[in-house]
Amino acid sequence: MEIADLSQKSFLTDLTENEIIIRDTIRDFAEKNIRPFIMEHDESQKFPVEIIKNLGKLGFLGVLIPEEFGGAGLGYQEFCIVIEELAKVDPSVALSVAAHNGLCTNHIYLFGNDLQRQKYLPDLTSGAKLGAWGLTESSSGSDAAGLKSYAERKGDYYILNGGKTFITHGTVGSVAVVMAITDKSKGKKGISAFVLEKGMDGFIIGKKENKLGMRASDTTQLIFDNCKVPVESLLGNEGEGYEQAMKVLEGGRISIAALSIGLAQGCLDASIKYGNERMQFQKKINQFQAIQFKLADMAVNIEAARMLTYRAANLKDNRKPVRKEAAAAKLFASEIAEKASSEAVQIHGGYGFIKDFPVEKFYRDVKLCTIGEGTSEIQRIVIAKELLSITD
Ligand SMILES: Cc1cc2nc3c(=O)[nH]c(=O)nc-3n(C[C@H](O)[C@H](O)[C@H](O)COP(=O)(O)OP(=O)(O)OC[C@H]3O[C@@H](n4cnc5c(N)ncnc54)[C@H](O)[C@@H]3O)c2cc1C
Repeated sequence: MEIADLSQKSFLTDLTENEIIIRDTIRDFAEKNIRPFIMEHDESQKFPVEIIKNLGKLGFLGVLIPEEFGGAGLGYQEFCIVIEELAKVDPSVALSVAAHNGLCTNHIYLFGNDLQRQKYLPDLTSGAKLGAWGLTESSSGSDAAGLKSYAERKGDYYILNGGKTFITHGTVGSVAVVMAITDKSKGKKGISAFVLEKGMDGFIIGKKENKLGMRASDTTQLIFDNCKVPVESLLGNEGEGYEQAMKVLEGGRISIAALSIGLAQGCLDASIKYGNERMQFQKKINQFQAIQFKLADMAVNIEAARMLTYRAANLKDNRKPVRKEAAAAKLFASEIAEKASSEAVQIHGGYGFIKDFPVEKFYRDVKLCTIGEGTSEIQRIVIAKELLSITD
């Protein structure tokens, strides 16, 4: 049996020539430059600086950003191909690339003014600087509008106090977009977004987290202790930060869906390979119908997740509303990926429990997919609110 290669978008159209070039470039890069070091980075929780810098040189750190700011000028469909291919090999690297492109860099592009775009985007798209994005706080995750960081205007500065939790690239990032309250009387309409630079007075890098999975991706607390933020660092207008963050997350959720698909595909590929080699009862285990059914279910779920995800990406590229579609793609893809990783370990038997086989790491990494950028429960709430036209 051949290893499955359900190429992206196979349900919709064939990949365009440009998409094939992108897929093959990133696939080749991942095989040669990431695969040999996966477990070294996982065990040591070492952020793979060189890999990420080299992805910048190839244009994969500014996928969604127009060429005038140093980006590749591509859309969400190409972005999904990149993230899927990376996640098939190492979901940690895919998470870093997804967060850098889709959260910090995209937020500055979407809501920054010309000066802010000129100042930050060329360094972010080239990989000279990495970006972080801070919404979550220790007491506000799902309830993102309940954040407490407070930025008080004092002349030409805001004085920012508070902190952020679980921030991807909190340690290695040099630029961070953070959401904070500027008007305590206005609820979510009193939240604003700022772009911060490492080295600003009172901007402190906190504890780096020791994680279950996605261990090569850097996850850190940020602390703001009377941090002096120049007024020019405000993104858009005061009070727009929460709505900006929700818009950014719509795109981010599509990328986490693509990450989940790549991870699930990695599980399927590894399972088919293993099942063709493992002999029990004088047969390859792939000859047992019980194993075949698991493989079939994994393949169908992956293809269904691709349909939801690339449809959401297509809508996004065509500037259509995607709040429900992005949530549905992320919800479905992350949950089928979780199931795929569990079945992949089962197919590997005891060897699936051992770090010599890639499914052991997929099984740990996948849990982030149902949590990050909104848990499965929150995706269901978003979908239901859209269905029932509930506004808050
Ligand atoms: C590796 C990693 C990287 C991350 N990177 C970033 C980042 O770069 N930037 C950033 O801002 N954040 C980041 N996060 C944070 C992530 O987005 C949050 O962890 C996530 O939104 C959940 O918030 P929480 O952890 O506070 O869980 P909680 O909100 O406390 O949720 C706990 C449980 O309660 C459930 N729950 C909560 N509210 C409801 C409700 N109304 N109805 C039903 N169930 C509910 C949740 O679904 C969950 O099961 C990252 C997290 C991780 C683990």
